[in-house]
Amino acid sequence: MTEEMDAWVVARPGPIATGPLERTRLPVPEPGPGEVLVEVEACAVCRTDLHLAEGDLPPVRPRTVPGHEAVGRVVRGALPAGTRVGVAWLRSTCGRCRYCTRGMENLCPESSYTGWHADGGYARYLVAPADYVYTLPQDRPAELLAPLLCAGIIGYRALQRCDLPPGGRLGVYGFGASAHLTAQVAIAQGATVHVMTRSPAARELALELGAASAGDARDTPPEPLDSAILFAPVGDLVPVALAALDRGGTLAVAGIHLTDIPVLNYQRHLFQERTLRSVTANTRADGRAFLEFTAAHPPHVAVTPYPLSDADRALADLAGDRVNGVAVLVPG
Ligand SMILES: [Zn+2]
Ligand SMILES: [Zn+2]
Repeated sequence: MTEEMDAWVVARPGPIATGPLERTRLPVPEPGPGEVLVEVEACAVCRTDLHLAEGDLPPVRPRTVPGHEAVGRVVRGALPAGTRVGVAWLRSTCGRCRYCTRGMENLCPESSYTGWHADGGYARYLVAPADYVYTLPQDRPAELLAPLLCAGIIGYRALQRCDLPPGGRLGVYGFGASAHLTAQVAIAQGATVHVMTRSPAARELALELGAASAGDARDTPPEPLDSAILFAPVGDLVPVALAALDRGGTLAVAGIHLTDIPVLNYQRHLFQERTLRSVTANTRADGRAFLEFTAAHPPHVAVTPYPLSDADRALADLAGDRVNGVAVLVPG
């Protein structure tokens, strides 16, 4: 007899108000060769889950379980039972293409993603390739580890991509889940961090976490920036952030979605060797480096837990900007 589990699937992609997620029972998945079966302890809710539910990211297979920030323990398969692992967004790459062989597996055209190409963590169990899971500390609460797996890792890659010099001045535009983790890494590494965000609560949190200043989204930071990261999905802020850069500075756009960028003025926004870059997912090396860093410097993670049975409410709260910190689903 096949065992069953509680799970959520994207049944009818569309606006969150129309209830795109459906709660259901599914057979506990069976790990294939090289895979592990993981019992989920916690799964963080990412804005990408919302894009999948609402159909901004079109489904690649019907009725897929979302969720790509899952922490759990291996039940059986290609790793020892009981191993604490994290299952993140990047699920597989080809390992042979020109990008994979150059250490740029995040650009692999054959890559697949957890909760999109395969069932994810809005469930009691999920299956993942052992080579793509991260080993996690045994002793930290799962709900504090889960947000590190996407918000944290992608933010960490953005921090690499913005070429922040040692002890440099970093501007952070937008201050949600990813930004609040990334800012803490930068501060721990000796950077001076200036946060620009429209949310007064986020500005307060930024200062508590050690930011040197916190202003409104379009405010000019108190000093020129060596580097900046745009976390807000707002193309209008690209020229704002470019204008805040010092000569030779770099702006990295962290989001998977960005509204249109207005016309740039070469003199004001790009000349003096300022650089504008995008960030696309992450490599496993980024993930390992970030998780190693956080094991030594555990970040403060603002979490709002939801029972797994309330995943639809968690997504609706995220859509409505009603989540404090990161929403994390915990099986009841
Ligand atoms: Zn490849
Ligand atoms: Zn994500």
